[in-house]
Amino acid sequence: MQYKQLGKAGIRLSEIGYGSWITFGKQIGLQEVKALMHTAFDRGINFFDNAESYAHGEAEILMGRIIKDFRREDLVISTKIFWGGNGPNDTGLSRKHLIEGTKNSLRRLQIEYVDLLFCHRPDLHTPIEETVLAMDYLIRQGLALYWGTSEWSAKQIEAAYDMADELHCIKPSMEQPKYNLFFRDHLEKEYLNLFEKYGMGTTTWSPLASGILSGKYNQGIPSDSRLAKEAWLLPDNFMRLIEKTKQLQQLAEALDCTLSQLSIAWCLHNPHVSSVILGATKPEQLLENIGAIAVKAKLTSDVMKKINDILK
Ligand code: NDP
Repeated sequence: MQYKQLGKAGIRLSEIGYGSWITFGKQIGLQEVKALMHTAFDRGINFFDNAESYAHGEAEILMGRIIKDFRREDLVISTKIFWGGNGPNDTGLSRKHLIEGTKNSLRRLQIEYVDLLFCHRPDLHTPIEETVLAMDYLIRQGLALYWGTSEWSAKQIEAAYDMADELHCIKPSMEQPKYNLFFRDHLEKEYLNLFEKYGMGTTTWSPLASGILSGKYNQGIPSDSRLAKEAWLLPDNFMRLIEKTKQLQQLAEALDCTLSQLSIAWCLHNPHVSSVILGATKPEQLLENIGAIAVKAKLTSDVMKKINDILK
């Protein structure tokens, strides 16, 4: 396992992280969470991702109970604020919700600070000045160490950097975008200028497109899988993606690895990715996926070209 800086920030994250979306508190309970977090930690994963909205806070409660098994200094814990509840002040990036939401997350996680605090989506109704000042306050109060954005446009991220500069506030350090073989533009095109100009780091999500890029859906939808339980995640172009997945699977077989490993290794290959956040419901999935690290070396320019040809 390599530990990479988060862009130009000093903190080091395992190149593979482990996240809790849809799984913790929905598909799996405390004993499974314990087994998975220990499997991850034992293989060198130090970065664990969460959000106030995951399972309505239950994902943070479960993660918080297992965090106690480890030394705090050995962990990088993140959470994301935006969707905190149903009240008029429980959502968005107002000073009120950012401060209350963060304090509620810390209470559920049973920790004094998160390492990474994300604005989970842009808030078009709150002035960027208010959001930047609130994030600066949270860091200066010691409740978070670094702040960043998730699924913001390059223009919105740039506005946050500029405002922080103007107000002499702590600047954002990272963005959390979706990035996988089927979804590439943010990272490979839109954000390029931000990496150069600001030294922005990234923690990327859904490396397997919710499992499609493991090949598990090539022969239909298994009843115990995510897409059987969360049908709203089924993409409109599902059958087209399955056609591509079948071709990618053949390439993985030729490289003597699994398709999950090839898909995750491909994400790791991008130098602008600081950490790839995995999702997993079983330790076997996690172990297989961590095996992607060994597959990185197989991604020669010839293999990368073959992948691009398939995805054309
Ligand atoms: P993936 O795209 O990797 O999907 C994970 C799911 O795929 C697993 O839960 C499992 O589902 C299935 N899977 C994983 N490995 C295998 C395998 N080897 N073989 C077969 N099936 C497998 O990641 P996620 O979509 O979960 O995203 C990862 C993390 O990113 C999240 O947990 C969250 O922390 C973060 N995230 C952030 C978002 C944001 O807006 N910032 C949005 C979404 C996620 P199953 O067993 O149920 O089929």
